[in-house]
Amino acid sequence: MIFSEFDTIAAISTPIGEGGIGIVRISGPEAVAISSRIFFSSKGVNLSTVKSHTINYGYIIDPESGEKIDEVLVSVMRAPKTYTREDVVEINCHGGFIILNKILNLLIRQGARVAEPGEFTKRAFLRGRIDLSQAESVIDLIRAKTDDARKIALEHLDGKLSIKINELRDILTRVCAHVEAYIDFPEEEIDGLTEAEIKKEIIKVRDEIDKLIEGYEEGKIYREGLRVAIVGKPNVGKSSLLNALLMKERAIVTEIPGTTRDIIEEYINIKGLPVKIIDTAGIRKSHDLVENEGIRRTLKALDEAELVLLMLDMSEEINSLDMEIIDRAKDKKTIVVLNKSDIKRDNFHIPQQLKNKPTVEISALKGEGIEKLKDTIFNLSVLGRYRQEGLIVTKLRHKIALESAKASMNNALDSFGKNEPLEITAMFLREGLSFLGQIVGVITTEDILNLIFSEFCIGK
Ligand code: GDP
Repeated sequence: MIFSEFDTIAAISTPIGEGGIGIVRISGPEAVAISSRIFFSSKGVNLSTVKSHTINYGYIIDPESGEKIDEVLVSVMRAPKTYTREDVVEINCHGGFIILNKILNLLIRQGARVAEPGEFTKRAFLRGRIDLSQAESVIDLIRAKTDDARKIALEHLDGKLSIKINELRDILTRVCAHVEAYIDFPEEEIDGLTEAEIKKEIIKVRDEIDKLIEGYEEGKIYREGLRVAIVGKPNVGKSSLLNALLMKERAIVTEIPGTTRDIIEEYINIKGLPVKIIDTAGIRKSHDLVENEGIRRTLKALDEAELVLLMLDMSEEINSLDMEIIDRAKDKKTIVVLNKSDIKRDNFHIPQQLKNKPTVEISALKGEGIEKLKDTIFNLSVLGRYRQEGLIVTKLRHKIALESAKASMNNALDSFGKNEPLEITAMFLREGLSFLGQIVGVITTEDILNLIFSEFCIGK
């Protein structure tokens, strides 16, 4: 079956599970007609004739068997003032999977088709209600793990990034027009930008692009969390620290060395910074296969971590295993966490290699020093630098497009400086324009669109 963007689509838009209400959303030219065939009201309300943006009380009834399915409230919103700019109907029923599924099936039988992931938002884009970067921010908004992440996504949805990108595109278009005018009328006196001005404008665009690229690292942290790995030998207190940070019993704490065999991932929120804690199996030499797998993963986690919490046990002497872990982590941004301060040995010394690293003394068991550790984690993250300026790039796709645009600007400057034919400069400027255009979706192929929207869940 070939899907068309003009089909009427339907999907369950609320999460699967039990809830007070559940919503089935329908969008497309036949949305109202299809819904009206399964909706009945004792007052004889017909959805096809109700006013736009009204909520209507009644029942969903299977038109073939006459069976009553649920008591519902149905909102009817006609194009163009809707999420998709098409006719949209939302059936608010009771939030049980059987009910929702039955209603969806009735709609399909009446001629709707099941929406693909993200298809409602894709339509909002295709119908021009939002641009591509705004559409992408819908998913960030839904997945936001902290309030700051939510705010950034909402800013993007409001079009803050799009406005900036379009500003840069406007400048470039203008510069490009001037350069092309010189190509077309080389002999004439053109009242255009001077050579120095052209250069200045290109540099300005390039530097603005650069700032956006730098803001990506920060944006990624807001979106995905700062990846922090807790490493240390078995029994040093990694699980206890994780629990203290989470303030709940998520990791299994045990006194048998080497029992945390899986990597556990949890998010915590430190002053608005989402931190993804990766707890790992203790690194130690072992012939046990399962544990070897744990060690392999620990090294991998160490590799992936942006920040390492390297734990040492102050109640014991530093041993060769500690030294091996210290060595493995030597190139990482590290906080040395000295645990078991409550039973600290008098002659405990930090190894020389770690003397310059930020160090926090804690007792994971007693919950002491945890706040100081959180502060140290926050201060070591890059957070806050670009956030203040209000523009943060959160998508890898955007970052790649920005990097390409920056390269085009550098090439344009280079060729302009070398007095190469102006056609070459113009070509690089056009190229840069097209990379920026990819971010807001002026230039996009079907493949890119499918990739972007497939990230969404059904019903969005
Ligand atoms: P892991 O193997 O590194 O995950 O270590 P665990 O978190 O499972 O802790 C091992 C043992 O050390 C447990 O018996 C904990 O109760 C104990 N422990 C952890 N942190 C502290 C601490 O700060 N002080 C004391 N006295 N014991 C601790």
